[in-house]
Amino acid sequence: MPESNQTSAPSIQALLEEACTLLTGVSESARLDAEVLLCHCLDKPRAFLRAWPERQLDATQTGQFRHLLEQRRQGRPIAYLTGEREFWSRTFKVTPDVLIPRPDSELLIELSLSLPANQTGNIIDLGTGSGILAITLAAERPSAKVLATDISSGALEVARQNAERLAVGNVRFVQSHWFDSVIDADFDLVVSNPPYIAADDPHLQQGDLRFEPDTALVSMDMGLKDIRLLAEQARNHMAPGGHLLIEHGYQQSAQVQTIFKQLNYRRVDTHQDLSGNPRVTSG
Ligand code: GLN
Repeated sequence: MPESNQTSAPSIQALLEEACTLLTGVSESARLDAEVLLCHCLDKPRAFLRAWPERQLDATQTGQFRHLLEQRRQGRPIAYLTGEREFWSRTFKVTPDVLIPRPDSELLIELSLSLPANQTGNIIDLGTGSGILAITLAAERPSAKVLATDISSGALEVARQNAERLAVGNVRFVQSHWFDSVIDADFDLVVSNPPYIAADDPHLQQGDLRFEPDTALVSMDMGLKDIRLLAEQARNHMAPGGHLLIEHGYQQSAQVQTIFKQLNYRRVDTHQDLSGNPRVTSG
């Protein structure tokens, strides 16, 4: 029998109901959000909530949960509240210094890994953020050398911690605005998920984007300035026959193709993400 002095403590079920009421209308996934936040406070998997709905939380756990719930009600993204997000089956630390990893970006990994290993020996990831692309590629291609850059020292700190937590050793991090501080000129593969949203895009005022760093999201010239700059710089840093893979907005594929072709990239192609949107251009 549980101790009787615990009877006033709320149960898992009661807290989830309270949370759903609070988040309905604020989040499209109220129930899921509530469960993820509660699991975070309890340090348990979601199956635990189903198995033990009557289990009561102590005052510390309840306080922590209600605090996170309030922040979620104000719109703060789940990944910033739990401090982590999955990408390509690994868990990455995330903070407000970095963009939250999105499934769309797994297309960059899929395309990179479809290249033969002898064409991915020397890889660079520009604007690495939390490090998801660089670290995933380094882990999946243990014999490759991977360099990752970011202009933000806060982001690089998160990326370094992720490489350490995941015990991935074949990746180095350098603070650089695109290629400005990179001297190597023999990359077989250049990948990037750069900022590509236009500064006046109303989506920036909605959802998770409101809380993410502008430096990771917004680019001038209708969102294309950084893509153009890094595609231009990449030409001076690639091995002969190297590949460039850049993520972009789903309505930007024609313009990105034009940029690649103007810069004399050959075999320019656009690839679709899991939702069927043109999301990555390669050259
Ligand atoms: N894919 C993100 C979004 O549209 C933006 C990421 C980026 O700008 N690189 O929500």
